[in-house]
Amino acid sequence: MPPTLARRSLELAGLSVPLIELTGSSAGPLLTVIAGVHGCEYASMAGVRRWLRELAARELRGRVRAVPVLNVTAFAARTPFVVPEDGKNLNRCFPGDPAGTLAERLAHDAFTQLIAGSDAYIDAHCGDLVEALQPFALYEAGPAEERARELAAAYRLPYVIRQVAGPDRAVSGTSSGAAAAAGIPAITAEAGECGLVPEQAVALHVAGLNGVLELLGMAELPPGAPARRPRQTQLDRFLWLRGRHAGWWEPAVGAGDTVAAGQVIGTVSTLDGTDVLEEVVAPVAGVIIFLTSSPAVAADGLLLGLGAR
Ligand SMILES: [Zn+2]
Repeated sequence: MPPTLARRSLELAGLSVPLIELTGSSAGPLLTVIAGVHGCEYASMAGVRRWLRELAARELRGRVRAVPVLNVTAFAARTPFVVPEDGKNLNRCFPGDPAGTLAERLAHDAFTQLIAGSDAYIDAHCGDLVEALQPFALYEAGPAEERARELAAAYRLPYVIRQVAGPDRAVSGTSSGAAAAAGIPAITAEAGECGLVPEQAVALHVAGLNGVLELLGMAELPPGAPARRPRQTQLDRFLWLRGRHAGWWEPAVGAGDTVAAGQVIGTVSTLDGTDVLEEVVAPVAGVIIFLTSSPAVAADGLLLGLGAR
């Protein structure tokens, strides 16, 4: 018997956010899935939307709670990276603040109403409007990491990054990090890039979410899905490189390329094209996980993420 589908609008920080709940015919875990924490990451939203439509016709144990587009004002305004009302990156605001600005309140309400109490949590992302990206899953070192690593493996993306606390730590305040801190196994799963909706990236998210359902014992893999997982590369460091100067960014590498320590991976030059302001050098050997694809960069602007062992 297919699951019961309920669709409604959830009020989060005064915003109306679309929520789909699928309740299986037998008891089981509660899996929460959110996409659109960043409002222009369309491939991940498309993946969650398609996965939900297909799952509505399948056999499910337990319950799925999913929001295909969380950052609804950024989606409407086509604003990359941030919540347009306060300019804050929602995925640096978790677990949020009920007395804060809109991004902080949205994080708080999403955390308390959606993520808390889940048996597993998936935050689906891709490269934003101006980000090229190699598909990967990110999880946090800590008490829930064993199950989180299994979730990352089940999502079937080519790279898996374990993030540890300390000076190397690239990113904090993420929804999956806040979930992990609350003891909930969680990953950030990234596939897709540059505001596009390519079939390959959408399919990666659908296959990943189905892999998670299988891992959690909530559903069989759908007919035709490859049972074997692809080979994955485990990385233990995630270094985010910034440019010192504002100007014209010209990468010499692409997402997925491997680089050697000391290799020049791009330049920032003056807008008139005459002077190179800086050469950006790989501090360690690794693989380019994401890359700013826009030539326009600010001083101290994020240029790329380098995954390393
Ligand atoms: Zn994102």
